[in-house]
Amino acid sequence: MAPPSPSASILPFSRPEAALPPLHLSPPHLTGAELEALQDVLASGWLAPAGPTPLRFEAAVAEAMRQPHALAVSSGTAALGLSYRLLGVEPGDEVWTSSLTFLATIGPAVQMGATPRFLDVDPTSWTLDPALLAEELAAAARRGRLPRAVVPADLYGQPADIAAIAEACARWGVRVLSDSACGMGALQHGWPAGHGADLVAVSFNGNKIVTSTGGGALLAPDGAAIARARHLATQAKEPAPHYQHETTGFSCGLSALLAGFGLAQLPCLEERVSARRAIFARYAGALGALPGLSFMPEPGWARSTRWLTAMLVDPRRFGADREALRLALLEQGIESRPVWKPLHLQPVFRQAPAVGGAVAAALFEQGLCLPSGSAMTVEQQDRVIATIRALHRG
Ligand SMILES: *Cc1c(COP(=O)(O)O)cnc(C)c1O
Repeated sequence: MAPPSPSASILPFSRPEAALPPLHLSPPHLTGAELEALQDVLASGWLAPAGPTPLRFEAAVAEAMRQPHALAVSSGTAALGLSYRLLGVEPGDEVWTSSLTFLATIGPAVQMGATPRFLDVDPTSWTLDPALLAEELAAAARRGRLPRAVVPADLYGQPADIAAIAEACARWGVRVLSDSACGMGALQHGWPAGHGADLVAVSFNGNKIVTSTGGGALLAPDGAAIARARHLATQAKEPAPHYQHETTGFSCGLSALLAGFGLAQLPCLEERVSARRAIFARYAGALGALPGLSFMPEPGWARSTRWLTAMLVDPRRFGADREALRLALLEQGIESRPVWKPLHLQPVFRQAPAVGGAVAAALFEQGLCLPSGSAMTVEQQDRVIATIRALHRG
C-alpha cells in the first residue's frame, strides 16, 4: 500500500487507495498575489497587529462592504464579541437571533451572561423572519422586556433582510448586529450584506469566500463605535506612559501578515462570487429536475454569493434521505455537511426560549451543503453530480 499523502491524516474520510483526491466543501482559493504580499509585510518590519498594512486592509474591507468605518480583528467571532461589548450586553439581557445559524453568532453574548432567544427563519430566504421578529418585538414590548440586540445572520452567502429587520427594530429602539461572517459579496436591496445594521461582523476564516487564513472585521456607520472597539481590541489601554485601564479589554487585533494576505485576496471577491454562483447554477441545472431535490431559494431582494450550495432532500420523493446521500458522497471521498443544526435544538441551549423553529428544523432534517469551492473544476463537480444521480437510480 502506498504511504498516505501528507494531508491524508487530517481527512476523516480520505482513503489512500482511492484513485481520486478528496473533494472538500470550501477549500481556500489562492490568487497568486499572497506570497508577494507577505514578503512586503516582512520587509516593512511591522509584524504586530499594527502599522500600515492592517489599516490598508481595513480601508479595503470598508470599501467592499460600503461602510465608512472598519476594524480588522483576529476572527469573525472576535468581531462579534467586541460588538456585544459595544452593545453593552449584561447578565440578564436577552439577545435575539435566528435559530438557523452557527454557534459563534450568539456564543460571545452567552459568555457575557445574556439569555438567547431563537426565532425561526423565513422559508423564502432561510434567514431571520422579519415578520415574526416584528410580532415578537411588539409582544416583548408589552411584557416590558425588549432584547438588548437583534442579531440576524447571513446563511451560506444568503444575506438577511436587514432593511426589514432594521425597520422592525427601529420602532422599539432595539439595535441590530449583523453576523455577516459568510456574507461578503452578497447584496440585499442593492446594498452589501449587513448594510443598515448598527454593527456588521465579517470573517476571513480559511473556508470563507475570501480569506486572510484567519481573521475578521467589525464595520459600522458610526466612527465612535469603531474607535471604542479598537480601544477594547487592544487591551483597553488609556493614554498614559504606564499601563492605565478603566475597563478590561481583549487582545484580538489582526496580525499585519494576515492583513497582507487578506489584501491579496480582496480584489478577487467579485470573481469568487461569480464562480460560486456558477457552481450553484450547475448543480441546480443538473440535479434540480430529480424528484425530491430542491435548492436554497434566492429572494428577489437578494443576491446570494452561494458561498455553499445548499440542497434539500425529500426522502419520500428522492428515495434516500439526506444522511444516505451524505454517506454515499463520503464513500467517494466527497465532503458534504448537513445544514446547521438549529440552535434551539442544541443541547447547550436546552433552556433557552425559542419562537417557532419548525422551518429551521425541517431545513436541518433535509438540508445538505455540497462542495462549492471557487477553484472546483467541472470534472470535480461532475463527480458530485454523478454520485447523487447514481443514488437516485439505485
Ligand atoms: C464563519 C462564521 C463565523 C465565525 O467566523 P470565524 O472567523 O471563524 O470566527 C460566525 N458566524 C457565521 C455565520 C460564520 O459563517
